[in-house]
Amino acid sequence: MSLFPSEESQRLDAADPLASYRLRFSIPKMPDGTDTLYLCGNSLGLQSKDGIDALHAVVKDWAELGIEGYFTGDNPWVDYGTELRESEARLVGAKPLEVAVMNSLTVNLNLLLLSFYRPTPERHKIIIEDHTFPSDQYAFREQIRFHGFDPETSLVVLKPRPGEDWHRTEDILETIAKEGAETALVMMGGVNYYTGQFFDIATITKAGHDEGCTVGWDLAHAAGNLPLQLHDWNVDFAAWCHYKYLNSGPAAPGGAFVHERFAHATDLPRLAGWWGHNRSTRFQWVDEFEPEPGAVGWQMTNTPVLSTAPLKGSLTMFDELGMPAIRQKSVKLTGYLWELLSRIESGFDIMTPSDPSQRGAQLSLRVHGDNGRVVFDYIKERGVICDWRNPNCIRISPAPLYNSFDDVRRFAEIFDEALRRVG
Ligand SMILES: *Cc1c(COP(=O)(O)O)cnc(C)c1O
Repeated sequence: MSLFPSEESQRLDAADPLASYRLRFSIPKMPDGTDTLYLCGNSLGLQSKDGIDALHAVVKDWAELGIEGYFTGDNPWVDYGTELRESEARLVGAKPLEVAVMNSLTVNLNLLLLSFYRPTPERHKIIIEDHTFPSDQYAFREQIRFHGFDPETSLVVLKPRPGEDWHRTEDILETIAKEGAETALVMMGGVNYYTGQFFDIATITKAGHDEGCTVGWDLAHAAGNLPLQLHDWNVDFAAWCHYKYLNSGPAAPGGAFVHERFAHATDLPRLAGWWGHNRSTRFQWVDEFEPEPGAVGWQMTNTPVLSTAPLKGSLTMFDELGMPAIRQKSVKLTGYLWELLSRIESGFDIMTPSDPSQRGAQLSLRVHGDNGRVVFDYIKERGVICDWRNPNCIRISPAPLYNSFDDVRRFAEIFDEALRRVG
């Protein structure tokens, strides 16, 4: 008998209230025309039909209206990004004033760091987690140098305990307590991109604040993956991208959160441009910059409407369902993946926390021995699209909007076969 009977997965699919959402996405094909087994929504989410409809609407308005498209048509471009703030706010648990759709993730990170990382000789450190995404590392290191400090002494990297893959909250709190007095900023990934660990944002944010630190979050792997409550968790600022769990296409504009308490903080240093300027006088061509209250005050440049359109379409699905329902399926889907993988006796282990409340959709699999890459190539040959990270990590992320329980079952079957044959 198969280790992975399809009766089980088919029963789960039949009972899945979100099953029909798959039809609203384009699933990439294999050369023979069959669907790939796409488990890479943590790197690039799939194209949604709603997103493409929204894109076509912009293309049509551009053709038919030219510059008038900024002010007329169904979705005037002048407010295209700001109109998405209600949906964005629901997505991350914020007030519309606190969020903006703008620029891209690393750009937003740098813009927000200019305002929120203000080191002094007494307080210059940034606390980050191990395996921080490289782009963020580069930003932190250069921001530290930009202010005349040295990453060697100003960057504190949290490490898991020896032999462990992820961070215990108590260890993070201990480091914050120890380094806090010299720390200007605590800035972690809400979900770590490598291990898939979801951090206790509320507790860590509070611990940072108790030490007088500013606390920011990179939510690239958390937005659209888990319900967030940025306002209530008292997060100072955050940035994320929309092309992973939010399915908005390569290099889609990013998202930013700035807590309401800074909505009118005109004293914060920042870079400026016309789209961050007060909406009511933006087109009166005054010389002095007066920031629009809230996160939009950091926007600077006008909304790239063409690349924002797929986000607008995609957000309609998130609005229809709400994050709790999406998360509910996600917990089941990833839990099912975990359960199936635990039927495989050897050849790998899982780096992601087993506790569902400490992870999102992703599981990171560490292949034992030297053949990880061969295992990855083997499953790829068989239509699995997922992600490889040196030296031995395969990241799998079933996306609740378009992945089925049977996708997960087929993955487990192929992965098991790969480990037996080439692992
Ligand atoms: C995906 C990702 C990025 C990518 O940044 P871009 O500016 O969108 O290219 C940066 N940081 C993290 C943590 C990511 O997961």
